Amino acid sequence: MEVPEEVPEAKSVGLSILYVEDDGVSREIVSEMIRRKFPGVDLILAGNGQEGLELFARHSPDIVLTDVRMPIMDGISMSREIKKLNIDARIIITTANSDIGQIMEAMDIGISQYVLKPIEQHRLFEALGRCTDSIRLEHRVRDQLGFIRKLSRTVEQSPVSIMITDPSGRIEYVNPGFTRLTGFTLEEAAGKSVLKSGGKAPKVYRELWETIIGGGEWKGELRHRKKSGEPYWTSTSISPLIDEKGNITNFIAFQEDITEQKLAGKAIRRMAYYDSLTGLPNRLLFNELMHQALAQARRRNRFMAVLFLDLDRFKVINDTLGHVIGDQLLQAAAKRLRESCRRERDIIARRGGDEFIILLPELDDTEEAVSVAQKLIDAFCRVISLPENELFITTSIGISIFPQDGQDVETLIKNADMAMYRAKEGGRNRYHLYTPSIDENALERLELENSLRAALDRNEFLIYYQPKVNIKTGQIVSLEALARWRHPEFGLVPPSQFIPLAEETGLIVPFGEWVLRTACAQNKAWQEAGYTPMSVSVNFSPRQFQQLNLAEMVEKVLEETQLEPRWLEIEITENIMLRGEDAIATLRILSDLGVQISIDDFGTGYSTFSYIKKLPIHSVKIDRSFVSDIDSNANDEAIASAMISMAQSLSMNVVAEGVETREQMRRLDSLNCPEMQGHLFSRPLPAEELSRLLDSMNQPDRPKNTD
Ligand code: C2E
Ligand code: MG
Ligand code: MG
Repeated sequence: MEVPEEVPEAKSVGLSILYVEDDGVSREIVSEMIRRKFPGVDLILAGNGQEGLELFARHSPDIVLTDVRMPIMDGISMSREIKKLNIDARIIITTANSDIGQIMEAMDIGISQYVLKPIEQHRLFEALGRCTDSIRLEHRVRDQLGFIRKLSRTVEQSPVSIMITDPSGRIEYVNPGFTRLTGFTLEEAAGKSVLKSGGKAPKVYRELWETIIGGGEWKGELRHRKKSGEPYWTSTSISPLIDEKGNITNFIAFQEDITEQKLAGKAIRRMAYYDSLTGLPNRLLFNELMHQALAQARRRNRFMAVLFLDLDRFKVINDTLGHVIGDQLLQAAAKRLRESCRRERDIIARRGGDEFIILLPELDDTEEAVSVAQKLIDAFCRVISLPENELFITTSIGISIFPQDGQDVETLIKNADMAMYRAKEGGRNRYHLYTPSIDENALERLELENSLRAALDRNEFLIYYQPKVNIKTGQIVSLEALARWRHPEFGLVPPSQFIPLAEETGLIVPFGEWVLRTACAQNKAWQEAGYTPMSVSVNFSPRQFQQLNLAEMVEKVLEETQLEPRWLEIEITENIMLRGEDAIATLRILSDLGVQISIDDFGTGYSTFSYIKKLPIHSVKIDRSFVSDIDSNANDEAIASAMISMAQSLSMNVVAEGVETREQMRRLDSLNCPEMQGHLFSRPLPAEELSRLLDSMNQPDRPKNTD
């Protein structure tokens, strides 16, 4: 036998062949053929079946090439034993043409390859080639299996939730990540349909389904429920698995838990856009919603109304009854508003403090806004039951209407706010529609401001005096000086209009000094005329306390007018507290001087009894607003009563302001209010008229007709 040149087999590295042959020459020649064809081959040689079997057991070669006739153990017997060790062993026998019986035997034990002797190279290579092909295939399958195993381990161990469904959306597989996330095991989930594609399914599911059955990938966020019922959110991507024919065999869904981010986002959104006390939208969200509604009203040519609500005298309740009750009241108010505005598109928001704002979009006519406002006012007329209290509270509402009262969000809100102030001025517990005349007032204001500067020089100011009466004796016990401005054009301008102007322009300082001097001089004049001495009270606005030498100025005026300090009383409002320590120091100096100090309009400002008891206060004046409804509003009576007893326990005098009816007087008297002031007794009067009143009333000691 000759060994011709052969093209070497490229991938013979790692290939091992056990060659069993008792004839040494054949073994040499065939070995050489094999080495040439498979360079690098691991060729193991054996001389008989026994040896071959041992080497097979030791080396597990890829291929066994064996002679049949051999001493000790023949090739067929060896092959039978080898097949017992490894049923898949690839065995090629070399046999003589005549040995048909052997070939049959070999086929019996599963040997399908043989090469006839004498061995022809190409036949040997054909047989070996078939074996190496099958080895290669096996390796490839093994590699793929390994990869699939790796893949499935990855899927199993992935922290991401993975779900595989059939093309109809029925679950075939879920990984442990899915179980951790949802609480459903593979057994529980398998076979269930995840399909939400019906008409009632949320839009997102319909889109999802359309995308994936069309062969596309869907990515998005979904909200689901766990086995426990708890909701959770996922960032999900779903893709179809497509076979070589282009058919969808499965869908695979990857889901990542984003619940925490979602909840944090929601909490932040809630904090930014909602009021934590009432749960209503806040100012920010309201403005955003109103912008949208406004654009829509404009497009559709509809009316829209803004209702600006402010609870009446909420501040007092908050201060006298405490913040816990104040908060409960605000929550109850919010609830009442919600109940009264039943249309789904109405937007109710809390603007802060006791202010609420309501947007009524898409109105057919403006009358609707008025009827809603009236409904709200009526809703507040019912008593509000809190855990430990029953309270009445009313509300004042300002209304502005789009398009006539404003074209943009800011203007509409501002005008509703202005109208609300009008409702307050009008006596509270009512609504007021914005009218441009509110704006006209601004013009009037400008004119006033200009003429106010000249008023002092032109002697246009005068002082009216209003008595305070001791209710037990019926005697006038003191007088309050109230300024008036006789305007050459506008007539008598009330202080509510010009005092704020004077404060803003700084004119209040010289004006205040003029009032003080005039009132002190007048009081001194009455004393000198023989009237029973009584104190005169002068109103000081908080702004005057900015004046550095206020106490000195008062002292100087008292000296100049020769009025004893004890006959002067200064009325300040609670807002003085906002002026800080300097203002309080000034009050102390005045009090040390002997001047009386009285808190005016008590109950409308910022103070509490616990605070004012630290101040040198001699008297409190209960604001008119508590007095006016005292006979019909149980709250007012309770608050007035609390004020009277608290003041008295602090040894302060109490005066009720604005007493107009006998009934009010009777109620206040029954609450032990010692002094009263109001139209029931006398309106504020010019000095001469007041002299006449004093003459007629309570000046028995004074000689008559002494003018
Ligand atoms: P105030 O000090 O609380 O004065 C009481 C106000 O109630 C006065 O209004 C008085 O005319 C009015 N009034 C008195 N009794 C009754 C009543 O029975 N029914 C009703 N409806 N009203 C009654 P007026 O004179 O218009 O003064 C308003 C406010 O202007 C005063 O409130 C005071 O805060 C301020 N003011 C008046 N004069 C001066 C002043 O010279 N200086 C400063 N800084 N403020 C002043
Ligand atoms: Mg006063
Ligand atoms: Mg007052």
